[in-house]
Amino acid sequence: MESTSLHTARRMRALEPSATLAMAARAAALKAAGADVIDLSVGEPDFPTPEHICRAAEEAIRGGKTKYTPAAGIPQLRQAVAADYTRRTGLAVSPGQVVVSNGAKHSLHNVFTAVLDEGDEVIVPTPYWVSYAELIKLAGAKPVLLETRIEDDFKLRPEALRAAVTPRTRMLLLCSPSNPTGVVYTPDELGALADIAIEHDLAVVSDEIYDQLVYDGRESVSFPTLRPGLADRTVVVAGVSKTYSMTGWRIGWTIAPEPLSKAMGNLQSQETSNPCSISQHAAVAALTGPQECVARMLAAFEQRRDLVAARLRALPGVRIPEIGGAFYAFFDIREPLGRMKAGGIETSMQWCEALLERQQVALVAGSAFGAEGHVRMSFAASEATLAIGLDRIAAFLQTG
Ligand code: PMP
Ligand code: GLU
Repeated sequence: MESTSLHTARRMRALEPSATLAMAARAAALKAAGADVIDLSVGEPDFPTPEHICRAAEEAIRGGKTKYTPAAGIPQLRQAVAADYTRRTGLAVSPGQVVVSNGAKHSLHNVFTAVLDEGDEVIVPTPYWVSYAELIKLAGAKPVLLETRIEDDFKLRPEALRAAVTPRTRMLLLCSPSNPTGVVYTPDELGALADIAIEHDLAVVSDEIYDQLVYDGRESVSFPTLRPGLADRTVVVAGVSKTYSMTGWRIGWTIAPEPLSKAMGNLQSQETSNPCSISQHAAVAALTGPQECVARMLAAFEQRRDLVAARLRALPGVRIPEIGGAFYAFFDIREPLGRMKAGGIETSMQWCEALLERQQVALVAGSAFGAEGHVRMSFAASEATLAIGLDRIAAFLQTG
């Protein structure tokens, strides 16, 4: 008789795999098989990790920094995160408010697990980054997806937030600069949302992992700085993955009130122990070393943004919002989809499948981000690669 003892738990049954990582794996497999694939699916800087950061990791290995560390991170890194955040935002933060984790994705998991109770509602504006809804569900809570419109630059309007709050609403999740839309809220827009969070006593998770990737000379504003006392209800999530091109090193963090940080440190001490000791030393070098590498990568991303936005805007029927930060173009393909219906292409997923099959370009379907009728393109690729990808997308739109 076949054993059923290892059937998966109920909480796993509705869990979707990460669509961004799935598409990246698919594109990599096609490439390995010899296909000429332009992969603009996953959001990961294409630059090598800066040399001085790699050197710090080598020194950490040679210096024997290869053992367990405190579960919430080495004191130098917690101190460096706090000092860097205070320097950039003006808000005083202590090392005890910082918990270092295995990437910002792990930090998000920690927050949801440590704060949310069964049945709590979390307001998540759509389009949202793929992992939010799944991680909230894993914690036993309910993501309440709140649609935003391209006409509003995909920004959550205060009236829409106010209308969505129920007695069960516990938390608001914000991501600016946004993955997947590249949209950056202004301080006034965030302030209006902060007022509602205060009025309804909501916790706020502010995903600021793209906080240093902002274009046109603007600066991203950190959510807790917007109103007095807001830091007591906000968890900032960030990390080195995007700013320093360190996605594989797996270092992210939370900045939260101390009692919650302590709880998340305890959780981590049972679940994973410390994040990689070597990566932590590399992250110290990233935060405390020369910052020209950040400016250099930002300038390259801005140039790519200009190229991609201009080329996409010129395509018939394609609409994109103002891309103020991060490295994504999230475009509306409802009109081209309407024209392709006769050919059997009706959804963003089918559109992406056909684009990959006919033109060997990998993008991610908007449905993965809760926004059917759209697709996401990462522009963290060289201008030459982007130009070929854009030519192929244009050819696909012409021929269907
Ligand atoms: N938040 C957002 C909005 C992201 O785009 C990413 C990218 N993966 C993460 C969190 C997670 O980052 P990390 O790679 O550090 O886990
Ligand atoms: N954040 C990136 C993306 O959205 C990396 C992949 C992931 O972690 O989902 O493509």
